Amino acid sequence: MLYYNLKNKKERVTFREAVTRGLSSDMGLYMPEEIPSPGHDFFRSLPEMSLPQIAFSIGGMYLGDEIPGPVLEKICSESFNFPIELKKIGPGKSVLELFHGPTAAFKDFGARFMSRCLGYFTTGDDRKTVVLVATSGDTGGAVADSFAGVEGVDVIILYPSGRISPLQENQLTTHGGNITALEITGTFDDCQAMVREVFTRLDTRDKIRLTSANSINVARLIPQSFYYYYAVSRCENREPVLSVPSGNFGNLAAAVMAWRSGLQVKHFIASTNVNRVVPEYIRTGEYHPAPTVMTIANAMDVGNPGNFARLMQLFDNEYVNIASKISGYWFDDDRIRNHIRDEHQRSGYILDPHGAVASLGLESYIRDHPGTEGILAATAHPAKFSEVVEPIIGEKLSVPSSLNRFLLGKKLSVPMKSGYHYLREYLTERYHLQ
Ligand SMILES: *Cc1c(COP(=O)(O)O)cnc(C)c1O
Repeated sequence: MLYYNLKNKKERVTFREAVTRGLSSDMGLYMPEEIPSPGHDFFRSLPEMSLPQIAFSIGGMYLGDEIPGPVLEKICSESFNFPIELKKIGPGKSVLELFHGPTAAFKDFGARFMSRCLGYFTTGDDRKTVVLVATSGDTGGAVADSFAGVEGVDVIILYPSGRISPLQENQLTTHGGNITALEITGTFDDCQAMVREVFTRLDTRDKIRLTSANSINVARLIPQSFYYYYAVSRCENREPVLSVPSGNFGNLAAAVMAWRSGLQVKHFIASTNVNRVVPEYIRTGEYHPAPTVMTIANAMDVGNPGNFARLMQLFDNEYVNIASKISGYWFDDDRIRNHIRDEHQRSGYILDPHGAVASLGLESYIRDHPGTEGILAATAHPAKFSEVVEPIIGEKLSVPSSLNRFLLGKKLSVPMKSGYHYLREYLTERYHLQ
């Protein structure tokens, strides 16, 4: 399977190139040339398949023979060595818990798969691999965790100062070693813009191999479709709707890829906080990226979603196609807080702010379409946002043991102003690029 550049569809690269580059030189996103269909036998055996088995089947179709079978099998079993759960919490409403990985957010799925693919492709390379990543909260932690201690790879994370939770900050800044956290005076969009500019403008003189671990990297996108096969095949309803709490829209794009490959999904719900460019687009047909607004669902504070171009491509760039398959809903912080409280009182289930957005989206859709069965993606463990959730529900949350280890570490971050040239200076000096 080849991957084409969304900005220049004639440019085609292998999976290896798409993963190791992250973005094309003109900042285009890579897309698989086709969405492979796994066929009837796969869908028949799906309800009995484990997540690593699903990953091996679907992943194998996307990767072709670029990673040998036994290696891919190992990558899948190591990457997805933690549980996922589907829990019914109310009429028509099931929660897909994607937060049982080491950093307690769904980003673990993509980061763990990508780090292992990259490790495979760069083994034996004498250049250092430098993974640059901008994070709105959770990506950085998942990427840091999955690359910590990996020989030959440096990870440099840009995060918006003061805009992520204390626990998230700990997850980025306490590793040390090959993980560096740059604390940027700015927003997530500023961080993302700095990373993008480095890719288009910085001449690394072949001294380092620069790559990106944002959800713009196809090796993060593809594994985010695996759990949808798992969830839909375990759902009582054969053709559920899926509500995905969205920021950069990688998770929703991956869900759409699963559907395009033949998975039965009745409808999608793009659920966002007040950063609502995509729901507004679906409502009006007009796309207007906007400055980022800070919310309590901060991993979704994205004003100009990087994966929107991919999402549109999956619908042949036709407004009518996307608008007939995806509904959009957005919610402000008050609605999110009230919903965490209401759901807790109603079912005892504790949502984190991101899951709460997905839950609100699903409820809104069910209100408009009574009788619908749906699955909402819960993307973070509520204890990751205990400072928001505990006062609302009036209970102390127990922190999963995987998170505890981050609370003890010492914060090591490098403060940096927003702007490409600060990052350029830093990289030039650190890697002697002159
Ligand atoms: C990143 C993130 C999201 C948004 O996912 P996208 O793929 O960027 O749309 C939602 N919830 C949590 C907890 C996240 O970390």
